Amino acid sequence: MEGKTETACRICGYDDGTVLYDKYGCALFVICPCCHSEAGVEGCRLSGAREARKLWLASGGKWHSPECTPTGWDLDKQLANIPAAWR
Ligand SMILES: [Zn+2]
Repeated sequence: MEGKTETACRICGYDDGTVLYDKYGCALFVICPCCHSEAGVEGCRLSGAREARKLWLASGGKWHSPECTPTGWDLDKQLANIPAAWR
């Protein structure tokens, strides 16, 4: 069955339109510029996604490369992007 492609990071919710999981649900192993998790590694199981998110938030929930942080970036807004199935 074909689903929708996923562009929001399952860990941190960052979404720049890059396809992370194709319509068949296959991970494209894109490294998230925000939380630095890799689609298909931390995010392939719900428990792994939650664990990675917990660690990322515990470390301050910051951009992996602070200089890449968009102006006006809002952590809570971004977290709201996390696909419902991966919260
Ligand atoms: Zn991320």
